[in-house]
Amino acid sequence: MHWPFSSWDNLRVKTASPSELFRKLPSVDDLMRAAELSALAASYGHESVVEAVRPVLARLRQEIASGLLDEKALDLALSGLPAAIENELRQALRYSLRPVINATGVILHTNLGRAPLGNAAIEHIRETAASYSNLEFDLGAGERGKRDAHVDRLFRKLLDDEWQGASHTNSAGLRPVEKLRAGSGGTAEAAVSTRAAVATIAVNNNAAAVLLALNTLAEGGEVIVSRGELVEIGGSFRIPDVMTKSGAILREVGTTNRTRTSDFERAITERTRLLLRVHRSNFEITGFTEQPSTAELVALARKRGIPLIEDLGSGALFDLRSVGISCEPGVLDSLRSGVDIVTYSGDKLLGGPQAGLISGSAELVRRMRSNSLFRALRVDKLIYAALEATLLAYVRRDHNAIPTLRMMRLTKNEIGERAEALSARIATEKLKAEVVDGESLLGGGAAPSSVLPTRLLALTCDGLSANELAAQLRTADPPIIARVEEGRVLLDLRTVFPEQDIALAAALARIVR
Ligand SMILES: *Cc1c(COP(=O)(O)O)cnc(C)c1O
Repeated sequence: MHWPFSSWDNLRVKTASPSELFRKLPSVDDLMRAAELSALAASYGHESVVEAVRPVLARLRQEIASGLLDEKALDLALSGLPAAIENELRQALRYSLRPVINATGVILHTNLGRAPLGNAAIEHIRETAASYSNLEFDLGAGERGKRDAHVDRLFRKLLDDEWQGASHTNSAGLRPVEKLRAGSGGTAEAAVSTRAAVATIAVNNNAAAVLLALNTLAEGGEVIVSRGELVEIGGSFRIPDVMTKSGAILREVGTTNRTRTSDFERAITERTRLLLRVHRSNFEITGFTEQPSTAELVALARKRGIPLIEDLGSGALFDLRSVGISCEPGVLDSLRSGVDIVTYSGDKLLGGPQAGLISGSAELVRRMRSNSLFRALRVDKLIYAALEATLLAYVRRDHNAIPTLRMMRLTKNEIGERAEALSARIATEKLKAEVVDGESLLGGGAAPSSVLPTRLLALTCDGLSANELAAQLRTADPPIIARVEEGRVLLDLRTVFPEQDIALAAALARIVR
């Protein structure tokens, strides 16, 4: 049977009334019997095709009712029904989560999925996902093992001063952990006396890491935080709220702009369980300001035998000073200065998968691991696979294997050359392209002033406003996300993979045509 619905009743000449037009519409059952739709049903499933038929027919009914279709137009629409239904089907069955081209220049863009993973991480995810693994199985002993063992061993290497080498010690004037701790006299349970005792566990994300740390170490007791660090990150993570959920009591000290070590000291009582420091991440306080240094808080924590934890947020595992950013403390900086526990994200500056990492005193980490919340917040084997591959790149010091680090290390010149090449390729009478100086952002809650100099491709298109051009770029396949500033669309190739430059050029050519 072939398509029967277009040529029905072709002989009539008088204008058809809407009710006559409605009568020409086939029923869903009629349609499903047609050969074209049987073929679709064979590859997409009967139900999906029926689901796609309904809205297409509903649109036709709507168009007839509003007088948009005469008989001829309806015949045309009916002959195009199989194509319309197939199109509807493809739209409905398309993935909602799709890759996009990030031309914003924000390296860790939370809305765009933060860190893209490197090839080794993707390959390790693939092989782990497609097969059984020794996730919780000790191959040597032939018995049950721990899933965190796979990454803890790599973190031990990365956070071990000796392995890091003497050149790193004393960078930024920080003293090695063991020297600071030698003077603590082992007063607190928290005080780690040897460097080897640094342990790491992973949970779902950094919000979960903070929750687990506070719940384990401070439930029912007080946690002292500076009023200048009671931050909200991304709308749904607020320190006071997480504190409440953890069962700990927030004890704020100081003022928004100025907090001193003595404020912390005065607030300490027998109910105090923790001192907490939070990276401000998405804002800065400038002007008449004062915050205790990490070293001062460490000294106070040691003196009073109370653990100090730091929510680093981004938590870099490599030295950001190497790309000209000096205001972001790394994980190692914090641990070296004597902070007992640091929490940080896996998919921010670390450049790995979404995870929350808790590193520091092995004794405190052991307590968190035995909290039942740790089981509820645990991460999946695919995340361990991606984390392990990302950490191995650090261990091998192969920073270019990690896409976000590679993007950070691109020079303004390298980006400028690509922008010039793309500009030459796309510029037309209608599409004006200019390469200008600008700034890329680290994003992901790194200090808001953490910018990298870049070269931007600035576009204007005759007959389209900048917002319209940006909207058209978003409908490209894959969608392209750009910045709009001062009536121009700005493309920052720092965050565009070089192999995507061609897709960018093709999308622009299509829009201009
Ligand atoms: C980003 C951030 C968080 C939240 O981390 P997620 O991994 O997104 O849960 C918490 N604290 C700080 C300081 C941050 O910057």
